[in-house]
Amino acid sequence: MTGNDGNIARAVFFKGPVIGLPDDIPFRSDREYTFCRLCGDLFQPELERVSQEEYTPQVRARSMKMQRWWAENHNRKHPAWEHEQFKLSGRFLTPEATYALVPYGIIPLSDLVFANENAAAGLEAPRISGFDNYEW
Ligand SMILES: [Zn+2]
Repeated sequence: MTGNDGNIARAVFFKGPVIGLPDDIPFRSDREYTFCRLCGDLFQPELERVSQEEYTPQVRARSMKMQRWWAENHNRKHPAWEHEQFKLSGRFLTPEATYALVPYGIIPLSDLVFANENAAAGLEAPRISGFDNYEW
């Protein structure tokens, strides 16, 4: 289950700016990235960090291809029962993923309102990540 699997429209969520990002983490919240809704691993291809002038449709297409590749590979890291259980939960993110992704400005509003565990994870989540779930 990742951000690119077409289920995004089912839940309300908000992508906001990231505040206090360390210099050695080149994450750009204004560019495309994908993430795992089960564990909160996040992937942004290096291609997403080119300048505005170099951000051509070709670059974007290559980036989307890399993100799909990452998502397909990452999905296999989770057993089928985990995907199934998550689907049945009706949540946008697991509490674990909420904890990992809130620092990146990914706020699952519907989960925070309707799921107590997610609300707790959202409140406990650090405002600045350790960035150990970030790949590029
Ligand atoms: Zn995962």
